[in-house]
Formats: sequence, C-alpha cells, structure tokens
Amino acid sequence: MPEPITLRLLDLYRIGPGPSSSHTLGPMRAAAKFRTGCLQRGILPARLEVDLLGSLSATGRGHGTDRAVLAGLCGWEPETVDPDDFLALPDRLKQDPAVGWGTGTVRIDASVIRFISLKDVRVADLPHPNTMRLRALDADGGIALEEIWCSVGGGFVHRAGDEARALSAEPPAPPVHPFHNAASLLEISKRVGGGFGDVVLANERAWEPSTGALAKGLDRVWQGFQDSAARGLGRSGELPGGLGLRRRARSLRQRVDTGAVAPEYAPIATAQAFAYAINEENAAGGRVVTAPTNGAAGIVPGVLLEVAERVSLTRDQIHRALATAGAVAMIIKTHASISGAEVGCQGEVGSATAMAAAALCEILGGDVEQVEYAAEMGIEHNLGLTCDPLKGLVQAPCIERNAMGVAKAWSAAQLALHSDGYHVISLDRVIRVMKRTGDDMRREYKETAEGGLAVSLPEC
Ligand code: SF4
Repeated sequence: MPEPITLRLLDLYRIGPGPSSSHTLGPMRAAAKFRTGCLQRGILPARLEVDLLGSLSATGRGHGTDRAVLAGLCGWEPETVDPDDFLALPDRLKQDPAVGWGTGTVRIDASVIRFISLKDVRVADLPHPNTMRLRALDADGGIALEEIWCSVGGGFVHRAGDEARALSAEPPAPPVHPFHNAASLLEISKRVGGGFGDVVLANERAWEPSTGALAKGLDRVWQGFQDSAARGLGRSGELPGGLGLRRRARSLRQRVDTGAVAPEYAPIATAQAFAYAINEENAAGGRVVTAPTNGAAGIVPGVLLEVAERVSLTRDQIHRALATAGAVAMIIKTHASISGAEVGCQGEVGSATAMAAAALCEILGGDVEQVEYAAEMGIEHNLGLTCDPLKGLVQAPCIERNAMGVAKAWSAAQLALHSDGYHVISLDRVIRVMKRTGDDMRREYKETAEGGLAVSLPEC
C-alpha cells in the first residue's frame, strides 16, 4: 500500500514576505534554522558565510534572496516580520551590522552573502536547483558548522540528504482517511459522502494540538488573503526593481466598481483585480500567503475572495474551500512539484489554477467527479508553462499570469460544472505528465533568467 499523504494545510498556506516562496521565504526559513542550530550547539561564529547556488544565485537578486537570508540570520520569522522593517533591513545592517547572537554579537550584512555563478557551480551538480551553503567560522577560519539547505518551493526547506523533512512534520497518528493520490481521495470522498476538503479537514482535525487550532490557522490564512488584497488595492505607482511595471489592481477594481467593465466580465475582472493586488504586493516585498507559492499567490485568493464577496461564504465554506484547494496542492507536491525551479511555471501557476478551479467548482455545487475534472483542466492547460521572469523579478510575466490563471480557473470550474464529470485524462495522470514535462524542460526555462521572456528585453 503506498504511503498516505500527510502534508499539512497550514504548511501549504504559509504567511510571509514576498516576492518568492522558494527564493525569499524558503531561504529566510533555512537561514533562521541554521542560526537556531548554531545557538543550540553554543556556537558564536567569528564570521558567517552564505553561498547562494543554482537558481538562488541566478535570480536571487531580483527575488530579494540576500535580504531574506539576512533576516533569517537575524532570527526574524516570516509570519511576524513587519514588511517595512524587512525591506529596510539591508540598509539598517549597513549602518550597524552587529547583531545579537546568544551571549554575543555577530557581523551580519551583505558581505556575508555570495552569489555563486552558474558557470562556477552547475545546477546538475547540486542536490536541488535552489541550494544554499551556510557556514559558521571560528576565529581561526575553521568551520564550526556547515550546512547545505535546499528550498524546494512553497517555503518548504530541508537540509541536503534529509529530503523527507521537506514535507510537514510527522503527524501524531495515521490519517483518519488515508489517501495517496487523486484516485484514492476520490474513492474516499465518495465512500464517506463528502468533498475533497471534508476528507482533508477530518484528517487535520484529528491531528490538531488543541481543539480549534486548525480553524484559527485557516482564519489567519483567510485574513492574510484579505489583508494582502486590501493593501494591494490601496496602492498605485511603479513597482520596485527597475522594470518600470506599474501597479494595475486599483484601477481595474475602480473600473469594475464604476461600471466601466461589462457586467458579464465583472466577476472575473474583480477576481483578477484581487490577484493583481496580491501579486503586486508580493512583487513589492509585502506579506502574502503561499497558495501554493508566492509567485502564484494571487490565483486562489483572487477566485475565492470574489466569490465570497458575491455569495457571502460562511466560515465553514471558506475552510472547506481552502482544504479542497489544499488537497490538490498536496497531491501535486507529492507526485510532481510546486517549484518553478524544478518544473517551470506549470508547477506554480498551473498548480494554483488547479487549486482554485477545484475549490470554485465545489463552492458552485460540483460533485467530486466534477471537482477532480476542474483541477485536472487547471493543470492540463498550463502544461509546459516555463518560468522566465524578466530581470529575475516576480513581476512579468508573473503578475499577469496570475490574472490569466484566475480566468482559466473560472473556465475550468464552469466547464466541469456543466459536464457529467466524465473525462479521459485523470488528475493523477496529468500530474505525472507535469512532472515528466518539467524533467524534460531545459534548465534555461526553470527560474534561471537565461531563457524565454527573461532574455527578451533589449539591452540598453
Ligand atoms: S514565471 Fe511563474 S514560476 Fe516563474 S517566478 Fe513567475 S510566477 Fe513563479
């Protein structure tokens, strides 16, 4: 019998600063874990060194990986860090690099970090495309502690050679409803008479440390969706990074609110305005929720915030929708990847589209066959999508791509809803194809900024 999936919902929906779950959130978490490891061993380094390798080096500057590592080394937590403090940290450390470390202080500033060129260390020689090497050195230059960490997408990290730890912490008991893929989830859902989300929630409730902990966590996720959308809708002007891209969320929402958008397009335009808002916040280094990644953070909340506004979803419906979308992400993460550096953007925007399509289909009354079909379409029509962000920033094509993901999720939910659920390609099959396509994809198209749109800008 295959191992059941034991990923946790609240590990999939992580709250933290943008712009990238694999290049910002993950490295921040890895650096913080390295700091904790040093402190637990009583190591007060004379010097710290962090090497960013592979895709972390190729697009790390545009993704703010260096800032994230500095924040992690300072012991900051993604969920609680103030976005403005986070953005100002490198300048603050330039003024005063002495940071508290146990009983002493350690110099933490930009000099700690090295971006190692892809020419010097090939991606093929790394344990993962997103790899970082952290060293604590003693006064003689000897290595007090060295660790290699991999950031595998969605904010998940693990030490090299410790792959199983990339997933959620071991649950305290076997799942109430063990499922290992979409087919088994479908079978259980039919047998117990619930949706995908009900199955996941039943498993998670049996694992929660105290009654209501899961519900409170999902409330925080929903609040995170609302907060990031509200912040993004309240701002205008140019996004940072030098690409010259302007924020568009507020004006699109205003056009909906003033009737400038055709009524039949208004629900999708509203959802797209939410997606723009969240991805613009993400691009500016603001706090968002991985769903399942930062780069693709706008699609699930875009779709759900719009439908919640229009049909007044209850708290239980919202939790169930988050769980249904989460179930889809769990299966993709287990059998393929949600990382652009591993499988291209199909793993980020494709996964988010599938999650949103499944949740929306269920909210609109779809049965489990239709929900599985909606998720399958969400991936199928994103297969082969490359990751090629301009200037290594999570802006173009990322922000617009989320808005397109919203439209695709809407269409997939509707097409599934107006079918009898019959389809030839199953969700499990399309996930396998996504994995194979990602494996076959040239590395230039996997978050290295060396191919596709990333090299389409004229040099000036
Ligand atoms: S192109 Fe897609 S996978 Fe790549 S950074 Fe943008 S959103 Fe993420």
